[in-house]
Amino acid sequence: MTPKGASAGATSGAARGDVADLLSGDPDLRSLLGRNEGFLTTIVESMPGVVFVKDSATGRFILLNRAGEEFLGVSRAAIVGKTDHDFFPKEEADRFVARDRRALESRQVQLVEEEPVHTPHNGLRFLRTRTIAIRDDADRPQYILGISEDITEQKLAGERIRYMAHHDGLTNLANRALFRQHLDAAMADFRRTRRGVALFFFDLDGFKKINDTLGHPTGDALLRMLADRVRQVAGDGDTVARLGGDEFAILHQAAPMAKDEQALARDLVQRISKPYDVGGNRLSVTASIGISSASDTCSESDRMLRNADVALYRAKADGRNTFRVYEPSMDHHLEEKRALELAVRNALARGQFEVHYQPFVTVQSERICGFEALVRWRHPERGLLPPSEFIPIAEEAGFIGTLGEWVLRKACEDATAWPVYVGLAVNISPSQCTPALTQTVMSALATSRLSPGQLELEITETALLQDSSTTVSVLHQLRALGVKISMDDFGTGYSSLSYLRSFPFDKIKIDKSFVSDLLKDGDCLAIVRAVAGLGASFGVPTTAEGVETLEQFEQVRAAGCTQCQGYYFGRPMPLEDVQRLLHRRRANIGKPGYA
Ligand code: C2E
Ligand code: MG
Ligand code: MG
Repeated sequence: MTPKGASAGATSGAARGDVADLLSGDPDLRSLLGRNEGFLTTIVESMPGVVFVKDSATGRFILLNRAGEEFLGVSRAAIVGKTDHDFFPKEEADRFVARDRRALESRQVQLVEEEPVHTPHNGLRFLRTRTIAIRDDADRPQYILGISEDITEQKLAGERIRYMAHHDGLTNLANRALFRQHLDAAMADFRRTRRGVALFFFDLDGFKKINDTLGHPTGDALLRMLADRVRQVAGDGDTVARLGGDEFAILHQAAPMAKDEQALARDLVQRISKPYDVGGNRLSVTASIGISSASDTCSESDRMLRNADVALYRAKADGRNTFRVYEPSMDHHLEEKRALELAVRNALARGQFEVHYQPFVTVQSERICGFEALVRWRHPERGLLPPSEFIPIAEEAGFIGTLGEWVLRKACEDATAWPVYVGLAVNISPSQCTPALTQTVMSALATSRLSPGQLELEITETALLQDSSTTVSVLHQLRALGVKISMDDFGTGYSSLSYLRSFPFDKIKIDKSFVSDLLKDGDCLAIVRAVAGLGASFGVPTTAEGVETLEQFEQVRAAGCTQCQGYYFGRPMPLEDVQRLLHRRRANIGKPGYA
């Protein structure tokens, strides 16, 4: 076991011999050595690292410094004379013995970068250890000297950093980088073995609004709860990742059958849409999911991601809260949609939007009492486009805030030229109903100097569907400015009456679908009458929308509506026509087909 490196040993033995001779021959030096022993002991004791010495033949500890005692949580009295096997689990002790043997067999310092140590009293720790054999004059190993550094904290920090580099801090799910690694590995496996891979890509419908209105801590708490649900739905071998914001993904490798994918997608949609209780708030979000599967034409990660993205767009376009599996025919739709989104954004910069105005009248006097601002897009090729062609796109592209603000500012400026008794109604999209809206309205009023009492903001029930408490508080703030709030398209949602209770609206606009069927459908008349009666009992004006004929006008008047709007009184018109109409106001009212 003890190696004899003859030539090297001879050299070092000779060197040591010289020193020993020197020392033994000189009494001063001998006392210096005595003092030095004390000095060296102090140094070894004070060293921050663990120092130990073992007997090379028996493996028993001969020396352990103070840092060693602290590291192990054992006094040196208890350890000196004992072997590794007296203190450490067998496997670990065997490893230490083997390490020491290597030191004895070598003339080099042996380095073990990281060794786990189950210390008797300080739990599992990690050491970086250097060992070397100390030889006698005959070059026989006598002792093993070990110097160890406690690297436990360093190792844990390193592990934490590695974990953080691959996981999302909020949800502890895999992050984009780790997801990509797993996806790449799964696709490589698919190319080799044809084992099926499915990628689920999803984002949350309505999450942005929760974040904007209830604040990020609430949004974060919701995401954490949601992540737990997703983890439960996903299979054990699946990688669940948060790719950023409200974007999640699942890599599903185990079951290649399409049926499994669909069942998983259905479960996800269902579980995610169940209400969340966040700090006493009952919140709902839904998810739209796009799914791609590995195939001969889709065997690369990038292609998988892209296809899932395309399918996700389709799921959203098909009404959200659902899933779609990628099909090649989806590509074309997506390209069209992207081009349209870009065109809508560019349209504002290029001055292609216009605000048109449609009059509404007081039923009693048949006089114009205001105009509703209705945005139009003067498309260079397709002509004048109605809002239905671009508002949903702007909403989805997150552009409605910018467009809505532009309409509001433009309309307020235009309306300053009108008499003060002529009101201005502006439509507000549900996603605009955030606390920032109050600032925007204040600024638009301040810049235009329009009287707040002239401005009416029209919102639909959808704005109250999600997180009504924030919307309602925004509406109260707006009303405190002196602005009126109307409920637009009343009757098209599903629980209209409860929404009427949630905020005291200044006006109810009965949706044009009831008015258009008035003459054919008795129920419509009953509904219009009921809503007009409801308005009367609250002391709130009711406007009948979409009045196109004299007969309809007479019916809604008889039903008790207080205001009317529709082609019978005037179509939406450019600002110049508004000015003209206001000058000849009385003469035109009641004449069908104006404008
Ligand atoms: P809305 O607020 O209910 O506006 C009334 C819609 O009914 C307008 O359609 C108007 O042209 C149409 N209309 C008015 N009278 C009649 C009639 O007698 N018969 C028929 N068949 N239709 C009539 P438009 O301009 O296409 O606007 C559609 C919707 O787009 C609006 O419905 C409103 O919700 C939205 N919208 C318009 N401008 C804006 C805007 O600036 N911002 C936002 N967020 N939404 C807007
Ligand atoms: Mg409206
Ligand atoms: Mg309406």
